[in-house]
Amino acid sequence: MVSKKIKSITPSFTINISAKVAKLKSEGKEIIDLSIGEPDFMTPNAGKITAKEAIDHNKTKYDMVPGLIPLRDSIVKKLELENHVKYSTSEIVVSSGAKNAITNALTAILDPYDEVVIPAPYWTSYPEMVKLCYGVPIIVQTDKSNDFKLTVKQLSEAITDRTKIVLINNPSNPTGAVYSKEELEPLIEFCINHNLIILADEIYERICYDHPFVSIPSISERAKEITILVNGFSKSAAMTGWRLGYTASNIEISKAISTLQGHLISHPSTIAQWAGYGALKEGSEDMKHMVSIYKNRRDTILPILNQLENVGYVNPQGAFYLFLDLSAYKKFYNNHDSFSIAFCNQLLDEHQVAVVPGIAFGNDDYIRISYATKIELVIEGLHRIQELLSFIK
Ligand code: PLP
Repeated sequence: MVSKKIKSITPSFTINISAKVAKLKSEGKEIIDLSIGEPDFMTPNAGKITAKEAIDHNKTKYDMVPGLIPLRDSIVKKLELENHVKYSTSEIVVSSGAKNAITNALTAILDPYDEVVIPAPYWTSYPEMVKLCYGVPIIVQTDKSNDFKLTVKQLSEAITDRTKIVLINNPSNPTGAVYSKEELEPLIEFCINHNLIILADEIYERICYDHPFVSIPSISERAKEITILVNGFSKSAAMTGWRLGYTASNIEISKAISTLQGHLISHPSTIAQWAGYGALKEGSEDMKHMVSIYKNRRDTILPILNQLENVGYVNPQGAFYLFLDLSAYKKFYNNHDSFSIAFCNQLLDEHQVAVVPGIAFGNDDYIRISYATKIELVIEGLHRIQELLSFIK
């Protein structure tokens, strides 16, 4: 009954794990949940106040398709002040979450069978989103020795005359790796020379610990011209449930995205948009506080990771994930189709710790742990992982 297209889509691993955890919890089991990519903080107060005011003042009608002007104006200011890139208000389209922003961008650009280069490990939804937009995901395996960051050589080997978009997620979910300006420049140069559009998912941009973050479109005017920037409020403002994200792109693309959005959703909830406006205007101290806590957690966790036997990891410089290399233990799971799924199931069933199998991100040797939760829980979770590793070897 359903389309071939929808049949070709894999359901979201992370959402499936959350459902399994919720079921176990409802049966009275105590689970340490390190699977979720959701901040354990609340919406900044300033955002709650402007949302309540919007309701009280009946700002609850249809509004402009690309988003409320005051919100888009403050996004423009944010991008200029924090990311050093100048957009006009009409180049911003506000959407229902970064997910919606990405699918808007893909739909606006792709014709059937156009190819999108996705460096692996990748955020689990990218390949499925590309397929849903009639495109073809081209997965490029990157090297652990380079913290899984894409290089020009890998990109040049992956493109064909059907390639239209290169997707770069910086900081990365699942690895936490962050590209430097020197790493981005040759990639941008290559994309300019080969007429490729960069879809830059910078949703974790504020959660960056060791060096100032470099936004792709800030690198040069030409970089800005070929980039569709995606950002949102879910991660850095801890506003997951409000469903608010945006694209910033050249006017031709922003008009196309706006036309599309006009038919699909009109615009995100006006109340959510006012919440985003408040959070952007006055919530920056709250956001800085969250980032400092994530950084403390990361710094506490790294020495513990170093004690795990035969476990490697990517040095996390941003976002709130750890991507652990368990390939040394793969040989003990030879009779399973997927090592990472079998390991994660065993960890959940026998040690009550939920993490995400690396196969969800295109690398079956790994598992992903989120530290967007209390540090005591992360530490206990890591101890239980060590227990399981000692048992299976
Ligand atoms: N992009 C990346 C890399 C993510 O990790 C996520 C959420 O997990 C999203 C986009 C989607 O964010 P939103 O909640 O704004 O749709």
